[in-house]
Amino acid sequence: SLWAPLMVQAQDQSMKYKDPKQPINLRIRDLMNRMTLAEKIGQMVQLDRVAVTPEIMRNYSIGSVLSGGGSVPLPKATPKDWMDMVNELQNGSLSSRLGIPMIYGIDALHGHNNVYQATIFPHNVGLGATRDPDLVKRIGAATAREVRATGINYAFAPCIAVCRDPRWGRCYESYSEDPSIVEEMTELIPGLQGDIPAGSPKGVPFLGGKDKVLACAKHFVGDGGTVGGINENNTVIDWHGLLSIHMPGYYHAIIKGVSTIMVSYSSWNGKKMHANRALVTDFLKNRLKFRGFVISDWQGIDRVTYPPHSNYTYSVQAGIEAGIDMVMVPYNHTEFIDTLTRLVNDKIIPMSRIDDAVRRILRVKFMMGLFENPLSDQTLAAELGSQAHRDLARQAVRKSLVLLKNGENADDPMIPLPKNAPRILVAGTHAHNLGYQCGGWTTTWQGVSGNNHTAGTTILNAINNAVNLSTEVVYSQNPSAEFVKSNNFSYAIVAVGEPPYAETAGDNQNLTISEPGANVISNVCETVKCVVIVVSGRPLVIEPYLNQMDALVAAWLPGTEGQGVADVLFGDYGFTGKLPRTWFKTVDQLPMNVGDWHYDPLFPFGHGLTTEPVGAA
Ligand code: BGC
Repeated sequence: SLWAPLMVQAQDQSMKYKDPKQPINLRIRDLMNRMTLAEKIGQMVQLDRVAVTPEIMRNYSIGSVLSGGGSVPLPKATPKDWMDMVNELQNGSLSSRLGIPMIYGIDALHGHNNVYQATIFPHNVGLGATRDPDLVKRIGAATAREVRATGINYAFAPCIAVCRDPRWGRCYESYSEDPSIVEEMTELIPGLQGDIPAGSPKGVPFLGGKDKVLACAKHFVGDGGTVGGINENNTVIDWHGLLSIHMPGYYHAIIKGVSTIMVSYSSWNGKKMHANRALVTDFLKNRLKFRGFVISDWQGIDRVTYPPHSNYTYSVQAGIEAGIDMVMVPYNHTEFIDTLTRLVNDKIIPMSRIDDAVRRILRVKFMMGLFENPLSDQTLAAELGSQAHRDLARQAVRKSLVLLKNGENADDPMIPLPKNAPRILVAGTHAHNLGYQCGGWTTTWQGVSGNNHTAGTTILNAINNAVNLSTEVVYSQNPSAEFVKSNNFSYAIVAVGEPPYAETAGDNQNLTISEPGANVISNVCETVKCVVIVVSGRPLVIEPYLNQMDALVAAWLPGTEGQGVADVLFGDYGFTGKLPRTWFKTVDQLPMNVGDWHYDPLFPFGHGLTTEPVGAA
């Protein structure tokens, strides 16, 4: 009829939560007044992509979806494939009774590493070596644009763990063993989310535009301090130690407007962080005034099982009571929803706790303009793996490399290497393997599949690109001593290290160079002048071979832009990187960190020789 459009308009105006001109608090209140308990609990759920359909999004008012470790679309989904997938789920959410849009999270840890042909930046350990927070911020901005290119608006980064023991399988996700470096590198957050406006109240979550993504500081707290470097283990440290080593990153993340914080699987002095109300609610939310939302880790609350309370109901109760707002369920939404509903109906969990969680989640969604712009378009599609981002990654590689040894003394440096040698040898397991170079969390969860999972430049490619056309580059993964002797090489470059790994699979008590290991170093370096490049997520046992080699470079896990390695080897740029970690002599010394009373490293924290670019005045 004639009146219908006016009636719709009148109805819409009364929907204050849909009106962007209303203050956010009022929009939150208006929306929450309309929500049923089921809709509130739905907002607290994060499901994995493989466990969700648009119908589930609609029927349960699910708050969020993630692509967890192994569930990324493989093998070669394009940005458009990703965007269509995300938009389809978003349309499910938008068709729910109240039309609350969802957010989509992914582990974009060193670039958009799950996505084929994304730019892969050095892992955090290498960025720690750059000592350049502004560079890290620019990497955050580039990563945000690549993530948005695929329709995703939430990155589970940065990991601000302070890794105190390199035997930990996630040590490479840590910028440093030194809290002050980790603190500075929280600049990734304004890179991902944008700079908070001056004068913003402390702790308010922030997102500054359509080319930005929500960040997630993780894993709260003490993940890098577990006993023996064992993943998800117990961190035994007093309150002062926790505050001074593991907490500073969180103060800084909060000041910079981090929108979300993920809880650690680990325990602190025997208490699981997923059940630690004193730290998650009393300290993080109340003392530090964090006003974004707290997210669990993957099945994190399921693991809260203290005998005799080994059942799911107890796990959910403990996690929600601790202060977790959004739960990475991630597969069985009905089990979680039914359990939490029962706990609320039985008055075991107060409604005020649910409201706190939902208010925080909705604040993030309103703040980021999600209700106004829930769907993505192709505007940023060309950002994925763009030349500008690859150049930035190459710069980061140059600055992340640490020159540990350069000739016998300063008068006899081996690096920079000449570009015009007649014939050189490139050897070792890590010289021509992009998968190894990228490390874990790359295109497949563990990154183990080795080569060819994405586009990039290996160290061998980079050397070939750098040397003169007249130079013959001979490549052999595992050359015999006879082979090396029978060729007339001017010098050799040997790249060794560790294979890719992620999480617990990377826990390692030996930290040796992977097979064929040190044989390559001996076979080559005993005959010809050689540079050894260690491609690894952490210091490895190198002391027994140090005298055999003429130069030693820590390359960490540099990512796709291997050209940055050649840039400094051949003197187009100087070496500037400084060790972000102590390089130990033997594993029996571990844990060993700068400032320890028994400090006796092979190379101390902060060590790093410098070179001048060739041709510099
Ligand atoms: C890891 C987190 C990650 C999550 C989602 C967990 O296993 O601990 O760092 O964000 O999976 O993939």
